[in-house]
Amino acid sequence: MQKELTMAAFDMLVVGSGGGPDESNLSAYLLKPRQAAWNDGIIALEAGSGLGALRHIMKRDPNIFGEHPTDASPTSFTPLTVYANVKCFLLTHAHLDHIGSLVMTAGTLGGARKRIYGSAQTLSDLETIFSGRIWPKLATYDENNPLFQLVYHALRADDKYEVIFPDISVRLMTVSHGMNDSGQYDGACFFIRHDPTNQEFIFFGDVEPDSISVEPKNIAVWRAAAPKIPHIISTIFIECSYQTGRPDGQLWGHLSPVHLVQELVTLATEVVIARKERRSCSGSRSRKRQRMSPEALHGALEGVKVYIMHCKEQFATERPINHVIGDQCRELLAPHQLGVELLTADQGMKIVI
Ligand SMILES: [Zn+2]
Ligand SMILES: [Zn+2]
Repeated sequence: MQKELTMAAFDMLVVGSGGGPDESNLSAYLLKPRQAAWNDGIIALEAGSGLGALRHIMKRDPNIFGEHPTDASPTSFTPLTVYANVKCFLLTHAHLDHIGSLVMTAGTLGGARKRIYGSAQTLSDLETIFSGRIWPKLATYDENNPLFQLVYHALRADDKYEVIFPDISVRLMTVSHGMNDSGQYDGACFFIRHDPTNQEFIFFGDVEPDSISVEPKNIAVWRAAAPKIPHIISTIFIECSYQTGRPDGQLWGHLSPVHLVQELVTLATEVVIARKERRSCSGSRSRKRQRMSPEALHGALEGVKVYIMHCKEQFATERPINHVIGDQCRELLAPHQLGVELLTADQGMKIVI
């Protein structure tokens, strides 16, 4: 069954999709259930860019909001009213390129109180910014303290889906984002589910390849995803920060095209294994890490769209850097014939999931 036969579940607006250092285009995605209006509430998935980037997007495309029958007219939306409609922030980790606009606007956000969802570690990292030194203390863990507009709410990496928004639940899985002085630096990957249709998509934060990680964690994500592909999960957002040729020693916890392709081959392998298991109804997960023949993987990811994001701007190419890296990924992917469609998440793009 192809995605076209299933109901689309989400609308996403890409406020920013870059991975720095261009501060006007940093990870920030606005999300809502497809059948709801933008007026009804919005999830801010990452908050690198925000009001300023959205202002430029809305200047270019004044009708980008308000297309829904029950929505307000497009002209009644401003960047401020859009962010006032944000009900919660969902953060993969607390690096500045993922939280910058949340910090900048924390004292001026309108609308109802907003929860900040992330791992306990991400929230405690954020606390060091909202400490009264780098920035005022503008968030609290106390759900009942009316003096704060922002409320921290930790998500556990415990295989469960937690409702974070009407009709939307999230499962957090931990991924490795490289090393720092105190050891492995973890980020999060989210399985985001539209409960009424049971449709999900996967959203990675920054992530390093399993092949060079001291503690590979992506494999668990791919194994969790495999049985659901493509009927339940047909869209994956994943970073590809660097161009082809970047030495492994300089990835700093990120992917480059060769590693992205390797991760997708691993996913395809897990999909084939999951389908075999389903056919044999064995139930037992006797996973000899059999080496699949390349032919066995042909078409394994048919019906899956992968959006690459978080490409690091070099200010050196005429074309947008994510298109350059997208081409490099497609070229490396082609011989594998996985059937996956590789796309780029561009700033200002509206994506139906
Ligand atoms: Zn980042
Ligand atoms: Zn990061």
